[in-house]
Amino acid sequence: MVPNKKIEAMFNKQMNAEFYNSHLYLAMAGWFEGQGLPGFAQWMEVQAEEEREHAMKFYNHLKERRANILVGEVPPAPTKYKNALDAFQAAFDHEVFVSKEINKMMEAALAEKDFAAVELLRWFVTEQVEEEAQTDAVVQQLKMIGPSLGSLMYIDRHLGKRKAD
Ligand code: FE
Ligand code: CA
Repeated sequence: MVPNKKIEAMFNKQMNAEFYNSHLYLAMAGWFEGQGLPGFAQWMEVQAEEEREHAMKFYNHLKERRANILVGEVPPAPTKYKNALDAFQAAFDHEVFVSKEINKMMEAALAEKDFAAVELLRWFVTEQVEEEAQTDAVVQQLKMIGPSLGSLMYIDRHLGKRKAD
């Protein structure tokens, strides 16, 4: 069943927001490379890929329901951070924002009784719990170590093990 115009517009907007999220994390990856922290950069690269997959989930949902697909411009993402904690704090804060947007969409989908949309959003509600937890875990680690370079290198090695799943 074709979604109504409200749901269609909402999903197109979020598809484009997820493409922005992909750029945001790839820009962070680039920044970490410049800092000589290839493990942090690897983690961000994998996350950037994952965000592209999020965008494609909305794309495919719109496609399968024969809705209009409107891929738009992606605004530029920040390219500078004060330090690793500043970058991961920005990532966590951004994921909290994304969770709020997903929740708002869930509310709208329920109000419109678009249960196919609700099912897609249910996946995202669960995913956002993971996204917040993963970025928060690194924020907490970075807060704990303070300015210790040895510990930062240790976290870098650990984060560098992240693989695309
Ligand atoms: Fe996402
Ligand atoms: Ca995830």
